[in-house]
Amino acid sequence: MKYLTEFRNGEIAQRMAREIAAITTRPWKIMEVCGGQTHSIIRNGIDQMLPAGIEMIHGPGCPVCVTPLELIDKALAIAAQPGVIFCSFGDMLRVPGTECDLFQVKGACGDVRVVYSPLDAVELAAKNPDKQVVFFGVGFETTAPANAMSVHLAKRRGLKNFSLLVSHVLVPPAISAIMESPGHPNGEDLPLGTPGNKVQAFLLAGHVCSVMGYWEYPPLAEKYRVPLVVTGFEPLDLLDGIRRAVVQLEAGRHEVENAYERVVTFEGNRAAQKLLGEVFEVTDRAWRGIGVIPKSGWRLSDAYREFDAEERFQISGIHTQESALCRAGDVLRGAIKPAECGAFGKECTPRHPLGATMVSSEGACAAYYNYGRFLSAEELAKTVVSCQ
Ligand code: SF4
Repeated sequence: MKYLTEFRNGEIAQRMAREIAAITTRPWKIMEVCGGQTHSIIRNGIDQMLPAGIEMIHGPGCPVCVTPLELIDKALAIAAQPGVIFCSFGDMLRVPGTECDLFQVKGACGDVRVVYSPLDAVELAAKNPDKQVVFFGVGFETTAPANAMSVHLAKRRGLKNFSLLVSHVLVPPAISAIMESPGHPNGEDLPLGTPGNKVQAFLLAGHVCSVMGYWEYPPLAEKYRVPLVVTGFEPLDLLDGIRRAVVQLEAGRHEVENAYERVVTFEGNRAAQKLLGEVFEVTDRAWRGIGVIPKSGWRLSDAYREFDAEERFQISGIHTQESALCRAGDVLRGAIKPAECGAFGKECTPRHPLGATMVSSEGACAAYYNYGRFLSAEELAKTVVSCQ
C-alpha cells in the first residue's frame, strides 16, 4: 500500500541503521514524544537495531495515559447518571479510575457508547433530545480539531443537550517541562546519565505537527539547545528521524527539522488552528503521573463554556486515589523504562492494569508487555514458536 509498505522495507531499514551506527561517536539519549511512535519502535525492534550508545526514551505523548485520574472519576460519575448517554473512543473504556472503569459503569447501569467521531455524538444528541449526550474529549492537538468542530456544530444547530468533557493537552509546554525537570544535563553542569531527566533530542509527533505545523518549536530548540525532528510513525520514518537527530547532536547543532514532509508543513492546518483558537483557550492542565504543567492544555473558551460538561453536571466531591505501586509518572517522564516498575507483569498486566500506561493502545507499559520486553531471549523464542 502506498505510504505504508515503502516505509517498512527491512533492507532499507538495516541500511539506515548501519548509517546511524557509522555517524555515532558517543552515547545519545533521544525521546520520541508520541506513544504511537513508542509502539512502532518496540513492535519493529527499532531500538534494538540502533548502536549500543543510542537510547530511546519514551515520552509522555499518550493522551489516554496523561488524562488525570480525577477527570476519569468525573467521567465515571457523569456516565452513571440516569438520562445521560456518555460517548467516548474505545481506548478510554478500560482506563482505571479510582474504583472502576467505564466498562464497569456500562455493565452496571450507564449508557456508555463507543463512537468513532465526536460528530457521531452530536448526531446522537440531535436524535435524543430527552437525553444529555456527553463526549469525552481527550487528547493532544491531533484530536482537538474534531472535538472543536463538534461543539461548533452543536452550537450552530442549537443543541442544548450536548456537552464535552475536555482534557486536551499540548506538546510544546510538555517539552519545556521535561527540559526543566531536575537533573537535566543541558540546564546544569551535570554529567550525562545523571538521574532525573536526560533527554538530548526529541522526535516530534508527526500527527500533532500535521495540525499545528512546527512554527512553535524553533524557540524551544534555541532555548534548550536540543534538536527537534518532526517524525512519522513507520519504521523508516522513525529511523530517518533518529538519523537526523544524531547528525545534529554529533555536529553540536540544535535545529528543528521536518522528516515527515509528506504530511507536515511549517504552517500546519491554518483552518483547524483558527477553529481551535475560537473554541478553546489555553489553561494550566494536570498531567496524570506528572502534575500540573502551566499553560499546557485547552479548555472551552467563554463563547463555548455552556458546552462544558464539568460545569453542566457540577461534579463535586471527587476524591482520587492513585495506586501506590504505579510508577506511570516516572515512565511518562522517561525516568524509567516500564519493566523497571516493580509491578510490571506481576500486579499490573493489560487484564488487570494499575495505570493507564498499561491499558492504553499508545501506553509504553502496554508496548513492553505486548511485545515481550520483559521476557528473556529464551522465553521470547518459545512465544514465537507457540504462535506458529
Ligand atoms: S507497569 Fe503498571 S503499575 Fe507499573 S508504571 Fe506501568 S501501568 Fe503503572
